[in-house]
Amino acid sequence: MSTSTKYIFVTGGVTSSLGKGIISASLAKLLQGRGYSVTIQKLDPYINIDPGTLNPYEHGECYVTNDGAETDLDLGHYERFLNVATSQANNVTTGRIYQSVIEKERRGEFLGKTVQVIPHITDEIKERIQILGNSGEYDFVITEIGGTVGDIESLPYIEAVRQMMWEFRRNTLVIHLTLIPYLKAAGELKTKPTQHSVKQLLELGVQPDILVCRSEYHLDRAMRKKIALFCNVEPTAVIESVDASSIYEVPLLMQEEELDKVVLEKLNLPHDGEANLTEWKKYLDRIKNPKSQITIGLVGKYIELKDSYKSIIEGFNHAGASNECQVNIEWIHSEKLHEENVAFRLKELDGILVAPGFGSRGIDGKILAIQYARENDIPFFGICLGMQCAVIEFARNVLGLKDAHTTEIDQATTNPVIDIMADQKAQTNKGGTMRLGAYACDLTADSKTAAAYNSQHISERHRHRYEFNNAYLKAIEEKGMIAVGKNPESGLVEVVEIPELTWFVATQFHPEYKSTVERPHPLFVAFVKAAVRKKKGTLV
Ligand code: GLN
Repeated sequence: MSTSTKYIFVTGGVTSSLGKGIISASLAKLLQGRGYSVTIQKLDPYINIDPGTLNPYEHGECYVTNDGAETDLDLGHYERFLNVATSQANNVTTGRIYQSVIEKERRGEFLGKTVQVIPHITDEIKERIQILGNSGEYDFVITEIGGTVGDIESLPYIEAVRQMMWEFRRNTLVIHLTLIPYLKAAGELKTKPTQHSVKQLLELGVQPDILVCRSEYHLDRAMRKKIALFCNVEPTAVIESVDASSIYEVPLLMQEEELDKVVLEKLNLPHDGEANLTEWKKYLDRIKNPKSQITIGLVGKYIELKDSYKSIIEGFNHAGASNECQVNIEWIHSEKLHEENVAFRLKELDGILVAPGFGSRGIDGKILAIQYARENDIPFFGICLGMQCAVIEFARNVLGLKDAHTTEIDQATTNPVIDIMADQKAQTNKGGTMRLGAYACDLTADSKTAAAYNSQHISERHRHRYEFNNAYLKAIEEKGMIAVGKNPESGLVEVVEIPELTWFVATQFHPEYKSTVERPHPLFVAFVKAAVRKKKGTLV
């Protein structure tokens, strides 16, 4: 047991989507800005082992860590805010908890005993929370409990919190995030749902220390006093969280509300002075005062749910700030792109990004968009499936291999320019079996990619089963598409470029997962820069 690590739990009440992830990340940022080391963990009450098998429409983007965990997209926020990598230990689902307990039962670790939710499941949850605390790396572990208090599936988590509060006493703290709705007809903010959700927590034995109240309007003193009175917290521990124009504003709003001070005070830690957010504020200044603006077309098939492309959107936010440029995203549904409308849809764009994805839906539109970008020399960035489509398009339209395809979609193609990786062929299980996480990549010295990174040796995160078929490498390179990045061990093609174009770069890996506020991703930065210059008519 770590004696010094402080455990902060963040629960949610009234409704989902209140932004627990952003509040957790904002608090973490404030604590980090005071010199503490902080990590954030998400506990998800669903039964999937991880979100890797979920359709993006269900759950938004699947985020990937360096160590190859397929995780909730909130981990992306944690990394983007803190600039600290997360890992397998930072996202745990009910499925994984039960899987582990059942495996222990089969091994005979509970011989003679009835295995039950309490204590076995709750012990497993507590252990998962403490793995991070016991690593000795962190002063604070912030654990966000997914779902809403009152859900059947989150009960064991709340019980684990109750037990940890009892065991760790003053080293624990509970922040409950709730909603204060505004009733237009009455012209009033209403506290009753918050009262009820705190009562629900109390029934489960958990008294929150701090309430963060999401609201469309400011809470006045009387309102704070009323909430405090009904919920057994001090008025200073009633924190308002009004809607912000950007998620990156939230740490500042929380600083104004003194959330970090109240947290430190309650945990008996020094709380004078302020968190140092100098760099953060500079970033916000750059976002608010762009000197130029560009429009990038994001071609994908999940665009009805923008969260499917969360890390890409944030990659553009970071790269925009570093170029002092506002990046507008034009959402282009790949299923709706046809020969007849492609020029009309894409001609005003300053850059085109073709997104990652799986399966055949929308693939023709992606290939058409790439052809348009290549033939009209519009800066182009392809990611994962976007890179694979760039190779298919080039093979079809430049090499004349009309049926070139990926075997993911057409197993009978006579020109499988993208093919399943050898070690994937025997895989029958779908969960957690892709090529996942960070792998090394060596870059050709004179490539645009190496120039962007200012390095020839990089490491990036992956999530795929198919790869560039090296049997076609020579023919493709002879025609002008060059494999400028390769895995040093396997020779797997990681990056292709068409050097004669202004900026045509496509990667098998997912650069978007590594872009943070403090470290905007070099390829996003270079792509935005190329689009800005293109718009101005200057050659890169
Ligand atoms: N479906 C492709 C593969 O598995 C691309 C995956 C992706 O875009 N993440 O290789």
